[in-house]
Amino acid sequence: MKIFTRTLALSDYIARKKEQGQKVGFVPTMGALHDGHLQLITTAMEETDMVVCSIFVNPSQFNDAQDLLRYPRPHDEDIALLQSIGCPVLYMPSVMEVYPPGLDTSIDIELDGLDRMLEGRFRPGHFDGMLEVVNRLLDIVSADKLYMGQKDYQQQLIVSRLIDSRGGVPVLRVLPTVREPDGLAISSRNQRLSSSHREASTILYKVLQSIKEGIGHQSLEQLKLTAKRQIEAHGLKPEYVEICDVDTLATIEDEVPNKDYVALVAAWAGDVRLIDNILLTV
Ligand code: AMP
Repeated sequence: MKIFTRTLALSDYIARKKEQGQKVGFVPTMGALHDGHLQLITTAMEETDMVVCSIFVNPSQFNDAQDLLRYPRPHDEDIALLQSIGCPVLYMPSVMEVYPPGLDTSIDIELDGLDRMLEGRFRPGHFDGMLEVVNRLLDIVSADKLYMGQKDYQQQLIVSRLIDSRGGVPVLRVLPTVREPDGLAISSRNQRLSSSHREASTILYKVLQSIKEGIGHQSLEQLKLTAKRQIEAHGLKPEYVEICDVDTLATIEDEVPNKDYVALVAAWAGDVRLIDNILLTV
């Protein structure tokens, strides 16, 4: 595996590969790699000629300084995992390489409020930082296909708007959430859960499944209320449980038959914040 820490060296390398006609797949991550990330990379390897995985813990998307400090950074393990699946290129830059002094990396695109609801309401500024880094990384890695997870549902919707603003390149591929055998969505943050919170966290996927089963039988308000109560009963603190339009994320008040919705949840398990979602058809 080729490991790049310098931006120019990586951009040159990619430019040479593209001159040879290779299609580039890109998987941006913050590291502490797990099966969710590896699924994105292996799919990218099947669908493109050369895959770049990046590991960069982006300070500008953390609205909580403690969360940034505590974010796991097991670099040796990450490199070994990437090597074990045959990932060809890793980009692991410093903050200075991504945000060189004097370079204006700010970005302002019309999101119709997508960045202010749900995650945006509880993590102010998070999506500004996320957009800034994804936009910058897309400038550095001129990819043909970008791979992201459904786990971060709102993130991929916002990135899709970013791609529209960049003329539709790269193509965005969103892959399903990879879960632990008990249903918990795999996340780099899961390793910080205490054993009792780890056990209790399975309630998040269970309430999403209950919403999926209950839709059409109970009111959406009732389903959301029951979900919140169940999360609380397991010792977690729910921030939101919402049932939303799949594109605009507007809260659905009344069901319309044959329409797709998404149920999304965020909750604290101790000092670890967890999110999950499930697609629904009414
Ligand atoms: P992160 O390192 O958390 O920023 O995530 C990097 C990418 O991996 C994002 O596109 C995430 O949506 C995706 N991802 C994270 N967890 C999972 C998962 N359990 N299943 C699928 N994709 C995931």
